[in-house]
Amino acid sequence: MSAPGIHPPPADLAKSAHVSSEKQYDELYKQSIEEPEKFWGNIASTFHWNKRWSSPVTRSNFDMNKGPIKIEWFIGGETNLCHNAVDRHVNNGLGGKVAFLYEGNDIGPGSQMTYGEVLERVCKLANYLKSIGVGKGSDVTIYMPMIPELPIAMLACARIGAVHSVVFAGFSAESLAGRVLDSRPDVVLTCSGVKRGPKTLSLKGIVDDGLKRAADGGHKVGHCVVYHHRDCMPQSEVPWTDDRDTWWHDAVEHQPASCDVTWLDAEAPLFKLYTSGSTGKPKGVQHSQAGYMVGSATTFKYVFDYHDDDVYWCTADCGWITGHSYVTYGPMLNAATQVIFEGVPTYPTAGRPWEIVDKYKVSLLYTAPTAIRSLMAKGNDIVKKASRKSLRILGTVGEPINVEAWKWYNEVVGDKRCPIVDTWWQTETGAHMITPLPGATPLKPGSATKPFFGVVPAVLNEQGKELEGAAEGYLVIKQAWPSMLRTLAGDQERFEKTYFEHFKGFYFTGDGCKRDEDGYYWLTGRVDDVINVSGHRIGTAEVEGALTTCHLCTEAAVVPVEHPIKGQGIYAFVSLMEGHDYPPEANVRKELIDTVRRVIGPIATPDCIHWAPGLPKTRSGKIMRRILRKIANKEEDSLGDTSTLADPSVVETLLSLRGK
Ligand code: ATP
Ligand code: MG
Repeated sequence: MSAPGIHPPPADLAKSAHVSSEKQYDELYKQSIEEPEKFWGNIASTFHWNKRWSSPVTRSNFDMNKGPIKIEWFIGGETNLCHNAVDRHVNNGLGGKVAFLYEGNDIGPGSQMTYGEVLERVCKLANYLKSIGVGKGSDVTIYMPMIPELPIAMLACARIGAVHSVVFAGFSAESLAGRVLDSRPDVVLTCSGVKRGPKTLSLKGIVDDGLKRAADGGHKVGHCVVYHHRDCMPQSEVPWTDDRDTWWHDAVEHQPASCDVTWLDAEAPLFKLYTSGSTGKPKGVQHSQAGYMVGSATTFKYVFDYHDDDVYWCTADCGWITGHSYVTYGPMLNAATQVIFEGVPTYPTAGRPWEIVDKYKVSLLYTAPTAIRSLMAKGNDIVKKASRKSLRILGTVGEPINVEAWKWYNEVVGDKRCPIVDTWWQTETGAHMITPLPGATPLKPGSATKPFFGVVPAVLNEQGKELEGAAEGYLVIKQAWPSMLRTLAGDQERFEKTYFEHFKGFYFTGDGCKRDEDGYYWLTGRVDDVINVSGHRIGTAEVEGALTTCHLCTEAAVVPVEHPIKGQGIYAFVSLMEGHDYPPEANVRKELIDTVRRVIGPIATPDCIHWAPGLPKTRSGKIMRRILRKIANKEEDSLGDTSTLADPSVVETLLSLRGK
C-alpha cells in the first residue's frame, strides 16, 4: 500500500525483518487464528519446558451464559519464566552478553551487568527469600526505583513461584497501603531512596508510612528488605524498624550464587499488577506463567523486529505493565541488551534522552506520547544536537498519539528513517494487541494499524451487533490470546463484570475505535469519554488531535460537559507551547477553535476552552479525564480517588483559571 500520508516500511529494514511484507503478515496472521494450536505450539517449543503441555493447547470460555469465564493456555505444561529469561541464555553460552546498561539519574559513567551476573544476583535474592519462607504462591510487594535490582527482584520471585506485585515507587504511602491491603504480602522489597530529577526522595520513609497504614487497616507485613541506594542518603539516616527491616546487602550478598528453579504449572499466577486508575479504583490484574511468557516474548521479537545486536530502551518504569512486559520479561526472554534508566527524560535537560541514545547506541526506542509531547515542546535544536544514527525503530504506547506528535517523532527524532510502532494494548492484555510490524506494515500516522498474531478484534455497535468493514464503535476481542489476564486478584466477579458482561461472548476493552476501509484500527479513546453532541458521537481523541495540529498547542484534553440543548458539549483543556502566559491573548482561543472547525467540522467546535499550564496525570503520564470531567462540570467537591495523581497542585491551578 502506498498513497499520500502512508509510510511504507523502509526497504532495507524490510529485507532483514522477521516479517518483511504485508503478504507474509497476512499468511502468518491467518494461521495464528485458524490454527492456534499449531501456531502457538511451534513458538512455545522454542522455550524450555520442564514438562511439555498436552492437548489441547488452549481452552477458554468468554461467554458468561455458558459458565464462569476461564482461560487456559499450554494446558498441563510446566515451565519457569526466570529460567527462560536468564538461565536458558547462560546455558546457551550467552552468560557474557550484557543484559542491562544502567544509566543513573545523574549524568555519570553508567554501569553494565551481564546475563551471568543477573543470574547470580537473582539466585542470591531467591535463596534469601526462600530462607524467610517465601515460596510457591506467596505474595511479594516490590516498591523500588528503576535500578537493575527491580527487574532482578521480579525475576527472583518468578524463580521460586512467588507472585510479585510491583507498586510504582512514585505512588504515595496511601496508594501503597491500599495495594498491600489487597494482596496481603508477608514480604516487601524496597530501597532506601531514589533520585528523581533534582529531588532526592526517602522511599523507605514512604514505605514505613504505607506499612503502618496497612497494619492499621488489618495487615501486618513481616519482612521489609531494603536495598541501599548509595547516591541518595547515608545508611544511618534511613528510618528503621528493627524487628521488621533487613538491609538487602546484609541478607542477600552472602547467599549461595545458585538456586534451583521451582517448576510451575502453566496456569500458575506470575504477578498481580494494579492498573493505573485513570478510570477509578485500581484493579489487581492477574497474569499467569506460560501464556504471558509466550505472549510478551513473541510480541517483543516481532513488534520491535528484535535482532541479537539491537540495543533496546524502553522508558517505562517496571511499576507499569509496559515495564513488566517490555523491560523485565519480553526483552530478557529474547536475551536482549537494554538500557535501564533511573531518571526522568527532561533532567538535567530535555537533551538527556538523545544523549542516552548516542551513548549506548540505542537502536529500538519505546516511549509514550506524553513524553514525546513534552520533549517536542522544547524545540528541535536540542534533538538535532545528538546524532541518533543508531536508531532503527521507534515505539509508542499508553494513549492515542496525535498526528502532530507522530510526525515530530518520525521527522525530527527518527529523521524519517525509522518506522513508528504505535502499540495499542492494556495491562489486562499483557502484550501488544494492535500494532504495526515495522518491516511489513505501511503506517498511517495516528493508527495502531492491524492486529498482532492471534488477536481477533471486532467493532460492535451500542446493541452489541458486530459491524463489518469500515465502521466505528466499541472495540472488543473475540477469542482468547495467550497473554491475557486470567482474573482480577481475589475478585472473579468483578473480573467477569468488568470485561465480559457488557457484550456477551466478547472481551470488552473499554475503548472505542474506528476501522477504516483498509482494516486499520484507529483508537478514539475510552468509551466513557465519547461525547454525544446533539446525537453525533465524537471521540475525545479526535478533538484533541485537531487541537494539537494548531501550532500554539502542545497538549489538549477533551471531556464532555452537560449542555442544556445539545445534551453534551465539548470542553477542552489546552496547554500552550512554551513562552505563553495563561490566559493568553484573545486571538489564541479563536485560532484553536478555528483549527478544530477546519480539521473536523463545526459539529466538533469546543464549547469551552479552559487554559491548562499543566494537566492532571497519573504517574505513568496519562491524563486523568475523570478529574477533568468533574472540573468541567463544576463538581470538584467530589473528585474521587486522587492518590494516583502525579502532581496534585495542577488541580488548584486549573480551578484558578476557570472562566479566564
Ligand atoms: P485503568 O484501567 O486503571 O483506568 P489504564 O486503562 O490507563 O487505567 P493501562 O492498562 O495502562 O491502564 O492502559 C491501557 C489503555 O491505554 C487502553 O485501554 C487505551 O485506552 C490506552 N492506550 C494504550 N496504548 C494505546 C495506543 N497505542 N493508542 C491508543 N490508546 C492506547
Ligand atoms: Mg484500563
